[in-house]
Amino acid sequence: MTGPLEQDDLTSEPEAPPAGDPIEVTPSREARIGELTVRRALPHRGRRTVGAWCFVDHMGPTTGGLDIGPHPHIGLHTVTWLLSGEVVHTDSLGTEQLIRPRQLNLMTAGHGIAHAEEGRHGPYHGTQLWVAQPEGTRHGPPAFAHHAELPRAELDRATATVLVGTLAGATSPARADTPLVGAELDLRPGRSEVELDPTFEHAVVVLEGRATVAGVEVTPGHLAHLGLGRDELELSADQTARLLLLGGTPFGPPPLMWWNYVARTVEEVQAAHDDWEAGADRFGTVPSACPRVPSMAPVGLRPPPS
Ligand code: MN
Repeated sequence: MTGPLEQDDLTSEPEAPPAGDPIEVTPSREARIGELTVRRALPHRGRRTVGAWCFVDHMGPTTGGLDIGPHPHIGLHTVTWLLSGEVVHTDSLGTEQLIRPRQLNLMTAGHGIAHAEEGRHGPYHGTQLWVAQPEGTRHGPPAFAHHAELPRAELDRATATVLVGTLAGATSPARADTPLVGAELDLRPGRSEVELDPTFEHAVVVLEGRATVAGVEVTPGHLAHLGLGRDELELSADQTARLLLLGGTPFGPPPLMWWNYVARTVEEVQAAHDDWEAGADRFGTVPSACPRVPSMAPVGLRPPPS
């Protein structure tokens, strides 16, 4: 369920986030991760980041194909959030952690980490998100945290579970290296409003059902980008629906993303690739029965436009 990037994700120039009201709804792209097909909402042509969120995969529901062997990361946090199924995470720090629905795994790569994920039982339905680390922490040590319980807040006709940051007065204990929010919103039929931080840009991905987001209908397989400067959001649904709200302060110049690496320069990507292929100590070893995943060479990789 950890998704490497593909060339198609990376072939266009990024846009500045729109300010104010316009909502931009963009279809997700199908991507293959091992045997699994996922809906990749971010990055896409024209948009690399929402705050520091730089990668949004929505997978399942599916019954199999979830095992992903040891592979490396640099410069990012992975945020794993399941709606159904159970997955075992192992990593080069020695972590072995079962994750269940409504629990959060937050792994920090920093200078380098490797991990594996093995499905324990399905059906699997969930998301894997990446957060780009800022300059101040991206060369730092790797880390892993499991949050078995997360705070909730009641809205008019919805319940918010806060994965990262603060929403509706509830604050997650999860680490955030830049101002960030991530929350699941479980909508009941009817209308709700939620206050937003207007210094953030925000986006919504619908995981189940259909929802009306600031007057625009959004269904699974799309990213609705809400722009900057919004201090509240109106949500409604005719039936129950689940969605993911993501936001943060604009990240600035986009990071250079290649395969499982979030970097700034081609040289950094090449060094990570070389270190993984050489089995260098940088990425350690991961106890996993699954085969190690070979790195994708950064052929044709160009530095990001600044
Ligand atoms: Mn991964």
